Amino acid sequence: MSDRFTGSFTQQEPIPEDAIDAAVAVLRHGRLHRYNLAPGETGEVALLEQEFARFTGARYCLAVASGGYALATALRALGVVPGQPVLTNAFTLAPVPGAIASLGARPVFVETTADLVIDLGHLARRIAETGARVLTLSHMRGHICDMAALMAICDAAGVTVIEDCAHTMGAAWNGTPSGRHGAMGCYSTQTYKHLNSGEGGLILSDDPTLMARAILLSGSYMMYDRHRAAPPPEAFEGLVAEVPNVSGRMDALRAAILRPQLARLPDRVARWNRLYRAVEAGLAGAPGIALIDRPEAEGFVGSSFQFRLPDFRPDRIADFIRRCAARGVDLKWFGAPAPAGFTSRYAHWAWAAPEPLPQTDQVLAGLIDLRLPLTFTPDDCARIARIIREEATAG
Ligand SMILES: *Cc1c(COP(=O)(O)O)cnc(C)c1O
Repeated sequence: MSDRFTGSFTQQEPIPEDAIDAAVAVLRHGRLHRYNLAPGETGEVALLEQEFARFTGARYCLAVASGGYALATALRALGVVPGQPVLTNAFTLAPVPGAIASLGARPVFVETTADLVIDLGHLARRIAETGARVLTLSHMRGHICDMAALMAICDAAGVTVIEDCAHTMGAAWNGTPSGRHGAMGCYSTQTYKHLNSGEGGLILSDDPTLMARAILLSGSYMMYDRHRAAPPPEAFEGLVAEVPNVSGRMDALRAAILRPQLARLPDRVARWNRLYRAVEAGLAGAPGIALIDRPEAEGFVGSSFQFRLPDFRPDRIADFIRRCAARGVDLKWFGAPAPAGFTSRYAHWAWAAPEPLPQTDQVLAGLIDLRLPLTFTPDDCARIARIIREEATAG
């Protein structure tokens, strides 16, 4: 019982040496702005866009300042206007409804299932009730819903889907990369996601008009011809005078450290999933602990782990969290009365005037979350699971 874990749940791996070299090269030549190019130079940002488009099979890619900016830009490119209802998951991170609110649009939250994905029955009802024509689908904590069923509902109702892939970069549904099902896919390269540039975002689309708008919105001035994963110049004609510059580009320094990390992403995904499976194996069959089902069709990235304590009362969960923390295991609780750290839930977002969602409330009340940074080993994960198991059964 005295077993204690000493690793840090917030310590990511260092930036790889070749990425540091690439960053130093950018610092030495000083051309950090994406459009500040020497004759014949493509630039780190355009190369990153080209490489991420190739990695996902997308026609077009745009690198931007953050994941939240990527989502807001996708919504602007779709022409979302103030007051317009935009559907999104009740279980997501605050910047997702925040991106909707940044346009003056109105987030409409959809219920969450016990497997932590959007409730498709409730989605269909909300579409019918609100007449919403846009869904910002958040693959929160890397859990992907039945994308074929979701797209069938949305296509039939004329709802355009924007995917929030902050936790699913490198993941897939039935072999199709996450972010390639909807009209646009948005990613984050913030430190806690799957590639680390401190802050940053990426947008994918196959639609030339949407991507031309997104590029103009990001602040391309008249230099969109310097992009390499962009639609042809004709796609921009007629848009230049219509689309405002909502400046939010990515710079060459961040792109320089992302490119070598992108090359390692498949290897990172495999390592994350070994960590995930080690925690899962360690918690399997533990009394009182409900694990989250991972469907066959879901190619996930196990960069974090969730489980539920469906029969625990709030005071027992708070006590369990305290006892795990005393043994070095930092857990997040989505049912905590007040938001803590990165963890808030829809009911805390009073600015969005959320309506009560009893099913989501019930799921989140017992939902526990832990990060699995790649600085952990499978042995670390087995120890973490042992501590969680002991404390969950001790209380
Ligand atoms: C991090 C995150 C975002 C936003 O990304 P930033 O780069 O931090 O703006 C969006 N959605 C989810 C689910 C996230 O976790």
